[in-house]
Amino acid sequence: MTTPPLNIAFIGLGHMGGPMAGNLLRAGHRLQVFDLSAPAVQRLVDAGAGAAPGARAAAEGAQVVISMLPASAHVRSLYLGRDGLVDAVAPGTLLIDCSTISAAVAKEVAGAAAQRGLDMLDAPVSGGTAGAAAGTLTFIVGGGAQALERARPVLGTMGRNIFHAGGAGAGQTAKLCNNMLLGVLMAGTAEALNLGVAHGLDPKVLSDIMSRSSGRNWALELYNPWPGVMENAPASRGYEGGFGCALMQKDLGLAQEAALAVGAATPLGALARQLYQLHGASEASGRGTLDFSSIVRLLQA
Ligand code: NAD
Repeated sequence: MTTPPLNIAFIGLGHMGGPMAGNLLRAGHRLQVFDLSAPAVQRLVDAGAGAAPGARAAAEGAQVVISMLPASAHVRSLYLGRDGLVDAVAPGTLLIDCSTISAAVAKEVAGAAAQRGLDMLDAPVSGGTAGAAAGTLTFIVGGGAQALERARPVLGTMGRNIFHAGGAGAGQTAKLCNNMLLGVLMAGTAEALNLGVAHGLDPKVLSDIMSRSSGRNWALELYNPWPGVMENAPASRGYEGGFGCALMQKDLGLAQEAALAVGAATPLGALARQLYQLHGASEASGRGTLDFSSIVRLLQA
């Protein structure tokens, strides 16, 4: 423990929030947690956290509040809704939202927090569930520089890289740009592999060739969508675990909203969104829980 222990409220203990909160506990911080799911709360209580009956109760006496919720509506309601935290927390409380949500909502919440004199950061993450468990996440932060300095020791316990993207909402915008590119790269990688295999190429050999040629990219080299090419990739375990199609669809939708807001042309992002939507509708599991690299199956149908 390099920093003194803090009282932290952690709201949202799912695939990402659960292990992130676990790392804070292991570093010696005192946690009060809340989630709508009782088993999710229980896992953290077993690890040493206190269970609060609601978000407001969790935030009582907290120096830092961290939220990791599914989408914009959840975050808006947590901070600005009835019993919202912005009106409830003590002066000086630092608010950090790590969920991936729209930049517009992130700005709205940060604006309301600022009116009460509170520091708030949008700090979405990259690195997935493995990064959350290992404490190696990348935080992409929007908000004031001083607020970020206050947050740095806490974020550093859960992640390895911390980037300051700009003012309120900038973290979300940068995250959406990244994930839109990721969605496009994965769809393109799947398409290239599918074409090669249809011509009789070995997907491993083709992946090796492209990884050392100008088509190289993260999806191909570290998260290959073809089963059997990469032992540790979701493709080699039936696309279970990883980053669900529903989350990729959400992020591509947010990217389109962001594009509309400024009139930016994002034709590939729009097409990728449609592809993942088609895939979600046609996928046997249909629940969007398969890893997003399963987009390759859309091409094999
Ligand atoms: P998740 O669905 O596993 O977890 C969300 C948790 O929030 C659930 O446990 C749910 O019960 C809880 N929750 C919902 N509403 C609540 C409320 N009002 N009060 C308290 N708890 C509430 O989702 P996740 O995979 O942990 O993702 C969380 C966020 O992180 C999302 O915005 C996602 O886009 C982003 N993200 C996820 C990944 C990933 O690989 N899973 C990677 C990067 C970013």
